[in-house]
Amino acid sequence: MDRDVIIIGAGHNGLVTAFYLAKAGLKPLVLERREVAGGACVTEEIHPGFRCSTLANSTGPLSNQIVKDLDLERNGVEFIRPTVRVLALNPKGESLCIYEDAKRTAEALKQVSARDAQNYPEFVSTFARIGRALSPLLRMTPPDIDNPAKGDLWDLGKLGLAIRGLGKKDEYRLLRYGPMAVADLASEWFDTELLRATVAARGIFGAFAGPWSAGTSAPLLLQAASDGHAIAPTIFVKGGMGALSRALAQAATNAGAEIRTNAEVASVRVKDGKANGVTLTSGEEIAARAVISNADPRTTFLRLVDPSEFDPSFLLKVRNYRAQGTVAKVNLALSALPQFSGLAKGDSVERLSGRIHVGPDIDYLERAFDAAKYGDFSSQPYMDITITSLTDQSLAPAGAHVMSIHAQFAPYQLKEGDWKSRREELGDTVVNVLSDYAPGLKSLILARQVITPLDLEQTYGLSGGHIHHGEMSLDQLFAFRPLIGWARNRTPINGLYLCGAGTHPGGGVTGACGANAGREIIKDLRRNSS
Ligand SMILES: Cc1cc2nc3c(=O)[nH]c(=O)nc-3n(C[C@H](O)[C@H](O)[C@H](O)COP(=O)(O)OP(=O)(O)OC[C@H]3O[C@@H](n4cnc5c(N)ncnc54)[C@H](O)[C@@H]3O)c2cc1C
Repeated sequence: MDRDVIIIGAGHNGLVTAFYLAKAGLKPLVLERREVAGGACVTEEIHPGFRCSTLANSTGPLSNQIVKDLDLERNGVEFIRPTVRVLALNPKGESLCIYEDAKRTAEALKQVSARDAQNYPEFVSTFARIGRALSPLLRMTPPDIDNPAKGDLWDLGKLGLAIRGLGKKDEYRLLRYGPMAVADLASEWFDTELLRATVAARGIFGAFAGPWSAGTSAPLLLQAASDGHAIAPTIFVKGGMGALSRALAQAATNAGAEIRTNAEVASVRVKDGKANGVTLTSGEEIAARAVISNADPRTTFLRLVDPSEFDPSFLLKVRNYRAQGTVAKVNLALSALPQFSGLAKGDSVERLSGRIHVGPDIDYLERAFDAAKYGDFSSQPYMDITITSLTDQSLAPAGAHVMSIHAQFAPYQLKEGDWKSRREELGDTVVNVLSDYAPGLKSLILARQVITPLDLEQTYGLSGGHIHHGEMSLDQLFAFRPLIGWARNRTPINGLYLCGAGTHPGGGVTGACGANAGREIIKDLRRNSS
């Protein structure tokens, strides 16, 4: 049967695109290779009775517009917003807590540094202002560099005015921060090493970069644009991230989309330079007016399309698109809540309810990256941890917990050995390092799941194991995402589009890539049928 549109992949962006296309009256068919929709947003059982968001833990956040358009709360999504954004563990003393409430955070910081306590509210309000000015960027289609249309210039003009409206001081800050190393930015604002490292960590989350790498402040600006804060939020979904994907799938099917799981696309069919359908690995062929790929750019261009359909210079650029993952996940089923040192017993549940940061100083983070640079995983990894069962009892039996550890740096390409033989060594390293902060941890572990970058590629379909479908560095953002000249969801093949995290504005559970792609594709399809 012929389809209007096929979407390859039911990641959260593919589902958002499917919703907007269906709402526009098209009949999208979403084909997902896994047995479950959601891509990196899934809840899986890691031990009988223990369910965990095995990959992404928190939303990026999703834009209010998407939550509203897809009526996510009516479709069953319950967002959980702990009062704590992040708790930074201290190997030598009291931990440090960044609350949602800036005043409360500043009050707590007085115990470590009067200057930091004074600067924190200004840090928050500065990024809130800059974020507000930049936020339209997230919903923009990057301009056509060679041939900008009137609409592109209009959008850029509006953005320029918003930036001018910031005033000189913030304008200069914005211009300086983009290319800056996040270690410098953090130390301009704060004196306490643990606070500097907590801020800097957001510049390197998921990246093949250390805090001294140029351009690592840019992710803080992007974060502020989507959330009004430089430090990422903690926003869980009741039932784990799989519950979000189910609601997105529900919204898309209610609007008229069809979703098929266990349906892996082997190739995109192209005739006379135009995509006209797909062939599944089962051999089934499905014709369509357009094909949209939620798979990452390298998978789409290097695996799903016959290379002879592309100009060799385009293929060279795709091969140079940087997408070497550095993240591993270690998910633990725990018989009880571990006791962390540096935390007073009375308030520990609240303080542990957001993200938990391990990476005491900038040098620690940089050394963790050094390992990846030289082809090994870090023996002292930077970790971003959540214990989602603290705020969502549906995930584990009473009194028991699920802990999900994002461990960095673990490069996709190892110099010594391979991920199959070194998986448990990585799991041991993570647990050993964390045991320095939570001494009784090992005795509480009922089950352990280690997900390496190779698993991210083989099981979850992320080429190079990259959690964001490719580096979020200045040379691969906005008009350069994924490639200069091809940042507007379209590709060199007519009728073939991208809608995933490899497009502007990039990775994170925001739905922005899917929504932007939907808007552009609807324009093209309407133009072509009129
Ligand atoms: C370990 C990890 C932790 C993360 N943590 C966070 C976090 O806490 N917060 C946050 O905001 N972001 C986080 N991220 C990033 C975020 O999850 C991703 O950027 C985002 O989910 C990407 O969504 P997507 O829909 O673009 O792509 P994906 O979620 O990757 O979906 C792509 C889909 O396409 C399917 N597919 C691929 N090839 C084919 C094919 N040939 N045929 C059919 N289907 C195919 C895949 O199976 C997959 O379902 C994390 C990601 C990972 C991997």
